[in-house]
Amino acid sequence: MKRHPQIAAEFIRDEQRTDWHNKAVYNFRLKRDAMVKTKPEWEELRQLASDIKDNVLANLDTYLEQFEAAAIANGVKVHWAEDALEHNNMVHQILQQHNIKLVVKSKSMLTEECALNEYLEEKGIEIIDTDLGERIIQMRQEPPSHIVAPAIHIKREEVGDLFREKLNTETDNNDPTYLTRAARKHLREKFLNAQAGITGVNFAVAENGGIVIVTNEGNADMGVNIPPLQIHCMGIEKIIPRWKDLSIFTRLLAPSASGQPISIYTSHYFKPKPGGEMHIVLVDNGRSAHLGRADYRSSLKCIRCSACFNTCPVYRRSGGYSYHTSIAGPIGSILMPNRSLSENADLPFASSLCGSCSDVCPVKINIHEQLYKWRQEIHEKGFTPGFKKRILKSAGKVLADPKKLNRMGKWAGKAIKVLPRFLLYNSLNAWGKNRELPIPPKQTFSEWYQQNRKHE
Ligand code: SF4
Repeated sequence: MKRHPQIAAEFIRDEQRTDWHNKAVYNFRLKRDAMVKTKPEWEELRQLASDIKDNVLANLDTYLEQFEAAAIANGVKVHWAEDALEHNNMVHQILQQHNIKLVVKSKSMLTEECALNEYLEEKGIEIIDTDLGERIIQMRQEPPSHIVAPAIHIKREEVGDLFREKLNTETDNNDPTYLTRAARKHLREKFLNAQAGITGVNFAVAENGGIVIVTNEGNADMGVNIPPLQIHCMGIEKIIPRWKDLSIFTRLLAPSASGQPISIYTSHYFKPKPGGEMHIVLVDNGRSAHLGRADYRSSLKCIRCSACFNTCPVYRRSGGYSYHTSIAGPIGSILMPNRSLSENADLPFASSLCGSCSDVCPVKINIHEQLYKWRQEIHEKGFTPGFKKRILKSAGKVLADPKKLNRMGKWAGKAIKVLPRFLLYNSLNAWGKNRELPIPPKQTFSEWYQQNRKHE
């Protein structure tokens, strides 16, 4: 299995795409900063959101039961799924009971996590992603590379080529408005013919059993309101206690995600349409286990805004696929090792630990500290490669002894100047793969310090 460094190396081979991806993603960060500056109450909102989510995690069982009771009282059918397979089975059974053959789905990271599309397609059910970016990557048979902008890694020209092949659009017409209209026409037909709509859930309100879905394209509303059957799939951590808490989160989510003051559509669903059915599937899939890990628990506060992705210097330059999981970026690197440490032990190392992710997180998750904690745990549990372990052990001995460190520094300074290039730049020197080693100054800092201290 390829790990983050190998997949990232493939991504950065295309320098032009790497630069462009970096700028496109960072542009979200810049817009976020500009919007945050207009909100003097920003830090207060972050603190409130963080406190509310801490309270939710401390009382999750109570809030979930409260939510279930309120939703059932509203006429909603509530289901509980322990893992991805059970979730997929449940959704399939509901669809089967209604003899459904075509489903429209709005963006849901949970259904990506459970691989619902693949599961339903195997059972002969056509499932169409209706968020434009999601539809593009679905047509390309790729997973999303970013939780908010799933097709951020794809260029306009590539979308033009794709639509020419799949939607018969005009030759050489890559105009975004033209392409968007072509997608709208294609999706409209799917909306009108679908027999069921599936959505994710951004927030679920314990006190009234309502769910809230946030989109910029209104596709969730089309998918929920046209077909008679609606199914909403949510992770159990999406609960908020009260209706009045919602405004805190909606004021944080869109500015953090894209620098918008608020998302275009914030839709509320409480009960089935007349003559219709509304189902909510609550999914655990490793969340309870994560809740039990005190060091990482607060990462369940995540509202999937993507701000930590957009600011992360590693994500921006290595692309979403380098994380080889459904949720990439800094938060994915905390959540995914919880699912499988052996498969995801590389991810907490895909970070510079600069802390920018924690600074921008609207619910104040200490992301970089949790990544650092994972690194220690991964090492303790024996997942560090043998070669790296030996290097670190030797480095530890040198760093712990000032005399050795000085000697080593002097030796390395000379070696860089005199050793042939192939001895310095080879497979043992991962750092030097894309960079030149710095030429050391004539005098080391330690020598300079000793000399200057004498003059004090
Ligand atoms: S961890 Fe924080 S910044 Fe990252 S996606 Fe979640 S809420 Fe947003």
